[in-house]
Amino acid sequence: MVKQAKDLSVLFYETLRDIYFAEKQILRALPKMAKTSQSDELRQAFETHRDQTEGHVERLEKIFEIIDKPARGKTCDAINGILDEGKEIMEDFADTEALDPGLLAAAQAVEHYEISRYGTLKTWAAQLGLRDVVPLLEATLAEEKKTDDLLSKLAQNVNRKAAA
Ligand code: FE
Ligand code: FE
Repeated sequence: MVKQAKDLSVLFYETLRDIYFAEKQILRALPKMAKTSQSDELRQAFETHRDQTEGHVERLEKIFEIIDKPARGKTCDAINGILDEGKEIMEDFADTEALDPGLLAAAQAVEHYEISRYGTLKTWAAQLGLRDVVPLLEATLAEEKKTDDLLSKLAQNVNRKAAA
């Protein structure tokens, strides 16, 4: 039983390091995505989420503090792959009507990755009895979900325009 709890806490820490790395990469990618967007709405959404992402990094640093472990990211190949695909879309579809739909799709892939990670971390934090950590993870998870919903709404307009 004790051993099991220890393993989960290690896994929790390693996954925290994964999303910490991911958030920092996302923070770097969002300004470029905002700049590349053709529609004002999409640009605004990316700019707003960039600011929120700074908060996500800060919340993670607070969690590292609470669990008394160094805030050190661990290379996350998944987010690197998702962001690389986004870059590819920006290059291949620059100045085409498919650019914004492509950016939206890339951004939603990022959000879904984050939602998956934060959902898992929240569950594990609760299981580990990390009561102060759960609300921090919940706050970020709520922002990721809200962003994903907004992007879904924007996609309806943007895709209609691109198809017209
Ligand atoms: Fe985030
Ligand atoms: Fe996000």
